[in-house]
Amino acid sequence: MALKDIDWGSLGFSYVETDYSYVSMYKDGKWDEGTLTKDHNITMNECACVLQYAQTCFEGLKAYRTEDGKIVTFRPDLNADRMIDSCNRLEMPAFPKERFIEAVEQVVKANADWVPPYGSGATLYIRPFMFGYNSVIGVKPAEEYMFRILVTPVGPYFKGGAKPVVVRIPDFDRAAPHGTGGIKAGLNYAMSLHPIMEAHREGYSENMYLDPATRTKVEETGGANIIFIKDGGKTLVTPKSDSILPSITRRSICYIAEHILGMNVEHRAVMFDEVKEAEEMGLCGTAAVISPVGQIHDHGNVINIPSGMDGMGPTIKKLYDTLTGIQMGHLEAPEGWIHEIKVD
Ligand SMILES: *Cc1c(COP(=O)(O)O)cnc(C)c1O
Repeated sequence: MALKDIDWGSLGFSYVETDYSYVSMYKDGKWDEGTLTKDHNITMNECACVLQYAQTCFEGLKAYRTEDGKIVTFRPDLNADRMIDSCNRLEMPAFPKERFIEAVEQVVKANADWVPPYGSGATLYIRPFMFGYNSVIGVKPAEEYMFRILVTPVGPYFKGGAKPVVVRIPDFDRAAPHGTGGIKAGLNYAMSLHPIMEAHREGYSENMYLDPATRTKVEETGGANIIFIKDGGKTLVTPKSDSILPSITRRSICYIAEHILGMNVEHRAVMFDEVKEAEEMGLCGTAAVISPVGQIHDHGNVINIPSGMDGMGPTIKKLYDTLTGIQMGHLEAPEGWIHEIKVD
């Protein structure tokens, strides 16, 4: 075993084929025992349920190498739980929680040489996903499913420091009330592709979606939850809504804010009108941990976030440093947050 010869620091966020993926098939009402595979292609019928009716969901987490050389993942149990919720909403058979965690362990261990070295800023991205495999032409759930985990090394998200982004209020909605916004389904991303490409063409990094029913409350971006800091850094506010995907990063940041940094945390409906009171604003997700936001453009009206366009504000920086410090093993982790993967 030897680390792959890769310039880890210059990796981007794109798919690199590694040695193994994990695969398990659901057939005749049960999951098979699952296995590692070197075959990174999938063959299925042209009428597979996923191809016709988009019956698929996914997860995303990372494996990190800590300073003392251990390989760890961050709260994989919450990814397992969330995938079960996604499966229930999409009439897919859940992949059992214990097996999910075991499969993550197996596939990371088999690809240990692909876990970037400590200090490179790079990580091994882990993508569990499941889809309806057999052919269906009448609209109904599949009877056979494939659960897979692929892993791929990804570079440091912020090359040369965190640069605040500019977001816009789009004319599109992300998720309907009582719809699928709260689950991690591919369909939520399919419909976000046009709004995000349009945003990029207009020079914005992300869409900041409002609630679809009234367009007065803040929801989230296409792939990250939103936090606001106010009261001189003493309060963290984050929107609550059934159509927001429950980000594990955001939930962890709220815990840190409340229990480690002693801040007030308000998880509640957030009016878009309130945003002008924010001192700092960030987008939370596994990919970036926290991306600072410097400006919001709302149809010609610009809201400048006081922390500005030069870097992270002081409170978001503290939250970011605490969470990444826990993930990298510098700071003591709350019980159950760090899941070591032992490689013999
Ligand atoms: C995955 C995702 C997030 C971030 O969740 P994490 O668990 O923190 O990675 C936020 N919003 C949406 C819509 C997502 O799909």
